[in-house]
Amino acid sequence: MAELLYENERLVFTAEMREEYTILVPQMAPYHFDFVVDAFTSEGYQAELLKTTDYDLIHEGMKYAHNDICVPAMLVIGQFIDAIKKRELKDDKVALIITQTGGGCRASNYIALLRKALIKAGFPHVPVISLNAGGLEKNPGFRLTPRLLHKVHDAMLFGDLVMTVINQTRPYEKQVGATDQVHEQVKRWLEQYFQHRRFITWRRHKRMSKRIVKAFAGVSVDRTLIKPKVGIVGEIYVKYSPLGNNHLEATLEKEGCEVITPPLYDFFLYSFDSRAHDIARYGGPRFEKITLRLLVRYVEWRRRKVRTLLKRYGFAPGISYKALKQLVDGIIDVGTHIGEGWLLTAEMIDLIHHGAPNIVCTQPFGCLPNHIAGKGMFKKLKKHFPESNIVAIDFDTSASKINQLNRINLMVSNAFRNLEKK
Ligand code: SF4
Repeated sequence: MAELLYENERLVFTAEMREEYTILVPQMAPYHFDFVVDAFTSEGYQAELLKTTDYDLIHEGMKYAHNDICVPAMLVIGQFIDAIKKRELKDDKVALIITQTGGGCRASNYIALLRKALIKAGFPHVPVISLNAGGLEKNPGFRLTPRLLHKVHDAMLFGDLVMTVINQTRPYEKQVGATDQVHEQVKRWLEQYFQHRRFITWRRHKRMSKRIVKAFAGVSVDRTLIKPKVGIVGEIYVKYSPLGNNHLEATLEKEGCEVITPPLYDFFLYSFDSRAHDIARYGGPRFEKITLRLLVRYVEWRRRKVRTLLKRYGFAPGISYKALKQLVDGIIDVGTHIGEGWLLTAEMIDLIHHGAPNIVCTQPFGCLPNHIAGKGMFKKLKKHFPESNIVAIDFDTSASKINQLNRINLMVSNAFRNLEKK
């Protein structure tokens, strides 16, 4: 039985706990996190992805966190506490893992809020692991080894790849459910893929990417169907998580649209690049700046190969990070990088350039940075791109689904009208 060990009042996830505890992972991005959990389990962790997606979980979060805090924090805390409550009689050997960015945004403090909430809810014995690449907190039972980091990087690349091909296939499939069937198959392939106990080579990754793209390209589709393309942008959690955005992707598909969600990896590249930008501008370790820039280049080199593959099989690939950054020239400064910052504006411009002027900008309550780079930029974007059809959807503690749906429907009917005019 693992002993509880505290360090500066923080409960540490010890090496013994690694053997006995199940790590609960919040579902932040459904196309990516299945693979992240595969990567964890392949490295010997018992990890479980939380799949609850009922927006009412926010009330669980509100009970234990201050209701002034931003919505993603409340949802994640609510989902964790709900999961622990449901399992408690069965097994209380659980730990929680949460990302900690270390940036200027409140996301860096979610971990402290979560620990406070656990004490309030009567679970002070549940350790919380910080998932960060900057060594913000040490836990002997959980180590981001180079091999695990590399697997997580692969999981992100595969997540983006799968999301792209699914979004471009499912709305046009001739047999309903065919794309989802291939998705399930791909999940099984990747579960095995990550079991590899050695460093996964680029050649292996390339082979698997090709297998995935080929499988989706094999789904029978009707490309004569004309559907409006609708992009989803916004705060990182509500943009991807069905729990955070009330199943926005499914809603838009049901309304007859093709959804485009920008790659999740862009956000990580943006975070690395923002740190390098700050060091260059305000000073800091030169070595860190060079390492971050090299990292961005390395990931981009790999993504370029994936984009070529997508093109070869008839899918529309995204653009490079460098090209994305250039889009905001003269519109918003690239020093604006709290929250999603300039990236959010760049994603909207990219969507407009690529035939998706219809955009849903997801805005959680309490998220000042993304209100500035999102809603705050609408007027400027409308001036530069009069064809844009952007709607901001607020996700707050008392979000009324009807209200959200009304606004989405209005945007969708404008999208259809504009398509007909064309
Ligand atoms: S980006 Fe917005 S929602 Fe996310 S932590 Fe920051 S303030 Fe909160």
